[in-house]
Amino acid sequence: MLLYFLLCALLGVGLEKVKENCGVVGVISRSKANAVPLVIDALRALQHRGQEAWGVAVPGKNPYKKLGLVIDAGQRELDLLTREYNSPIAIGHVRYSTAGRKDLESAQPLKVKDLCIAHNGTLSNIKELSGVVGGCTFTPQHASDTLIAANKIVDHLRQKKGGFSKALKVLSDEMAGSYCFTFFSDNNDAVYAARDPRGFRPMVVGYRNNTQTYVVASESIALSAVQAGLVRNLQPGELLKIGYSEMKSEIFATADSHAHCSFEYTYFAHPGSVMEQISIYEARKRIGVGLAKKFPIPDADVVIPVPDSARLAAMGYAEAAGKPFDEGLLKDRYSKKGRFRSFIEPHKGDRVEINQWIIPIVQVFEGKHVVVIDDSLVRGTSSTEIVKALRRGGARKISMLITFPPIEFPCFAGIDFPTQEELAIFGSEATLAEKVERVRKTIGVDFLGYNDPKTLAESIGMDVNSMCFTCATGNYSALGVTPKLTLGSS
Ligand code: SF4
Repeated sequence: MLLYFLLCALLGVGLEKVKENCGVVGVISRSKANAVPLVIDALRALQHRGQEAWGVAVPGKNPYKKLGLVIDAGQRELDLLTREYNSPIAIGHVRYSTAGRKDLESAQPLKVKDLCIAHNGTLSNIKELSGVVGGCTFTPQHASDTLIAANKIVDHLRQKKGGFSKALKVLSDEMAGSYCFTFFSDNNDAVYAARDPRGFRPMVVGYRNNTQTYVVASESIALSAVQAGLVRNLQPGELLKIGYSEMKSEIFATADSHAHCSFEYTYFAHPGSVMEQISIYEARKRIGVGLAKKFPIPDADVVIPVPDSARLAAMGYAEAAGKPFDEGLLKDRYSKKGRFRSFIEPHKGDRVEINQWIIPIVQVFEGKHVVVIDDSLVRGTSSTEIVKALRRGGARKISMLITFPPIEFPCFAGIDFPTQEELAIFGSEATLAEKVERVRKTIGVDFLGYNDPKTLAESIGMDVNSMCFTCATGNYSALGVTPKLTLGSS
């Protein structure tokens, strides 16, 4: 019977993860080696940040852009790209759109006159920005936030006769939201990187000795992929210019506090990355330890993760609680959709849920009180399916712990959550505890516990005031705009 159940229980669960944001990379080789192979390898390493489209740009050519994953291109196409785009300067981008259209034209890098640019983040006031761009020929209603920013940079350069730093300084007063840019101009031999003054999205600088190559990237895992060492983080508000013989850093804007996205630490970032000097791998294990202190469950028999990003937290929880860790849910790595991390098809007009396949291993939890650790609870639909599978497999009692606080408000800084009404925790109850109790009943667990911002920040090892928790708190003050919401922001 058990074997029958195991064979029959190949469970299609549409993991309702939030949509990813994007990843950027910029490379310059001072020994004039071809930068394109490094950009391709770095983009592969950043694929978890965007699976809709990717692209590479070098000076003097139109950007090369494709829908889908880098690996889909095949070796012959990548070899051809490497030969035909041979250049010591290159930038690249993997995309999940949070603003603008979903087609190849909107994939990045984008080229506006001599400027090629790639963007990670979301400019949350694009309507206002597009209204004040002068002398541009694009149509704002179809433009992505990146295209609007690129046009504005070019426009500022043309009108003000200043450099990129001055253009970004002027622009930073007008732009609200999050941005990490890599860019170059056909007119000068340098790669540039810029990060918004709050530091919502991560960005690092690395160096590869053997080809004297500098690499800027969204995450340090991209540096590891090209055998470059991590030099440092790009500072919030910093513009870095890396030329063949000089490197120049300028702070183009400052903010009274930083707002590093806390969701990067629980879900988005690659576990092999280091952000703001913090190992994501170690932080996630500590998050599990923090949950074990916040929610001790003495009669638990086994701790299991919802694969994959909650695994380290589940290990940390099990270790701290002195409970066995096991894999009660396995991803079917050979399913057609298993390689996709997010839940939206990358092609326009085909926005259907990706069924990631999860196999329950009933021997792990049958007859037991199982503690299930997940990295977030967004709509609650996948949690409901997972709980049903655990019940069918004979779990005696189910406690679910979520490493991220309740997501009650939309993100306008680069992460595309569902609408506020679609969020599981959304409701008119007076207290958060009442909302959590409703969600607990809806997904069908015996106990539901969410992390809180203070515990999460302490576990990560950062000051809670230097992190963004807007999607949990509704406090949009760091963003620079106050969106209209169904539930009022604090
Ligand atoms: S609102 Fe949430 S997802 Fe968006 S930047 Fe802030 S912490 Fe990250």
